[in-house]
Amino acid sequence: MSQKVQSATVAKVGLYVGEELARYGFPDGHPLGADRQGAFYKEASAQGLLEKVSARAPRVAMPAEIERFHSKRHVEKVMHAERDRVEYLDNGDTPVFPGVYRASAAVVGSALDGLARIMAGECVRTFQPIGGLHHAGRDHSAGFCVFNDLGVVIETLRSRYDIRRVAYVDIDVHHGDGIFYPFEDDPDLILADIHEDGAHLYPGTGREDETGKGAAKGTKLNIPLMPRSGDREFMQVWPRVVAHLARFEPEFVVFQCGADGLKGDPLAHLEYSPAAHAHAAQSLVQIAKRFCRGRLMAFGGGGYDRSNLARAWSAVLREIA
Ligand SMILES: [Zn+2]
Repeated sequence: MSQKVQSATVAKVGLYVGEELARYGFPDGHPLGADRQGAFYKEASAQGLLEKVSARAPRVAMPAEIERFHSKRHVEKVMHAERDRVEYLDNGDTPVFPGVYRASAAVVGSALDGLARIMAGECVRTFQPIGGLHHAGRDHSAGFCVFNDLGVVIETLRSRYDIRRVAYVDIDVHHGDGIFYPFEDDPDLILADIHEDGAHLYPGTGREDETGKGAAKGTKLNIPLMPRSGDREFMQVWPRVVAHLARFEPEFVVFQCGADGLKGDPLAHLEYSPAAHAHAAQSLVQIAKRFCRGRLMAFGGGGYDRSNLARAWSAVLREIA
């Protein structure tokens, strides 16, 4: 087989699924249960999407890797949470469960494995359904998010791969406060975040006038939508995201495609269909091709109605594959 044919048959997209990732889920009827990866996988399989991607196995991150974003204090708190009989890692949303450290470290490690493969040229894009834990801050867990895999990826792009200008795009129904605030004064983190208005939903942040601080002023675009907004409102504001990203010419795209903005999600009040996710993904692939040599990592984020998350994430995978 010639080199050309061989490279043409290698999938451009790595899909991170596996038992270690599936275990990231909270017990006792918690909305973020351990069955979400399976719900997505079944739908992606039924849609014939798995043939288009390379399945990649999860990897568990080392503490030092997690500490590229998080404080040592926080990493050690999670590591010893079961031994210390900690009940919640925050004030009531994020309970400790058996294997919490290892499952959380698998979310981070899989993201780093995807990043390494992209930078090595083994694939161009990745999708990791169990990931995109955008509420965890440098020194704390929050909102079902133990470690922030997205933050670790951004810090790793800078420290290991010398890529500074990163586009972070977040369409989860909740504001991505765990990325916004740690990078609020960072002029090279180009952020666009469409979410349900904070007056109506956790975490209450992400106002339109929050655009970055100091030298970073203007590098962050927050677009809150009122409850009951749907595809029409999403499509109306999306060109602002594209213009914002194009203005700063990023080198790499990180995409948090939470599915909790779909109609019927038990925790929120927007009314998207999977068409919103497809539109965003297709558009971001174009941005990535134009500025970033195609490089894009997508993460599933939130989404608590199983049928919704299965369809929204499959729509994303279809567009990036
Ligand atoms: Zn969410």
